[in-house]
Amino acid sequence: MSRSVFITGGNRGLGLAIARAMAADGDRVAVGYRTGEPPEGLFGVRCEVTDPESVAQAFKAVAEEQGAVEVFVANAGITRDTLMLRMDDAVFEEVLETNLVGVFRTVRTAAAGMLAARRGRIVLLSSALGFLGSPGQTNYAAAKTGLLGLARSLVWELGARGVTVNLVAPGIIDTDMTRVLSDKRQASLTEMIPLRRFGSADEVAAVVRFLAGESAGYVTGAVVPVGGGIGMGM
Ligand code: NDP
Repeated sequence: MSRSVFITGGNRGLGLAIARAMAADGDRVAVGYRTGEPPEGLFGVRCEVTDPESVAQAFKAVAEEQGAVEVFVANAGITRDTLMLRMDDAVFEEVLETNLVGVFRTVRTAAAGMLAARRGRIVLLSSALGFLGSPGQTNYAAAKTGLLGLARSLVWELGARGVTVNLVAPGIIDTDMTRVLSDKRQASLTEMIPLRRFGSADEVAAVVRFLAGESAGYVTGAVVPVGGGIGMGM
């Protein structure tokens, strides 16, 4: 069955891999893009998650093009790493505003339609390192673990209407986000991974696709690590 899917930050990295995986299944897929151009072959809508008006317009455009959103993937995210004593309020708040408030804002919009339809799938991109704690990432870890409280409260608010909410917690995945790290940092991170390699965007997309699929109907409130062993036992 073809469903209306919307993925924020879908023009590159994990979001694009998720979009392509779900489009390959026959879903009607829209990707939110903030800068640049939408990816070839996918319906793109401008969506800046820190801007309520942009979010409202994006969901409206998606509904007009392919119907109300039935599957929502909150993927857009940023890092602004630095040790806490050097992190000013603005840098802390910028990450919280995108990675936590932006998710709340988009999920709230998505959930309204799902409640009316009495079904839906919501998947949030969290982070295994966020749960473990990571030096230089007080802002990022606070936001990414904050998603758990958000999700599990929503499980209660939306469950009776057939809407599931789950977290995917990638470990260290080869995307632009990790390519900016120095070779030394990449090598030390690889040492922390039992499988001794970074994951691929497609390996994360496969898990999101499962959680967003019909067959995951009884999975809600879960945190699924995709970390090559990082995050096991969470
Ligand atoms: P990328 O940096 O490759 O891509 C991030 C995407 O988010 C881009 O499309 C970017 O848009 C978009 N984005 C950023 N800020 C905003 C905003 N304010 N409004 C709308 N879109 C925005 O990251 P990844 O693909 O690696 O990461 C995707 C998600 O997975 C993130 O939430 C990240 O935290 C999470 N994650 C990633 C891991 C990794 O190792 N890569 C590990 C754990 C979690 P633009 O192109 O305009 O910048």
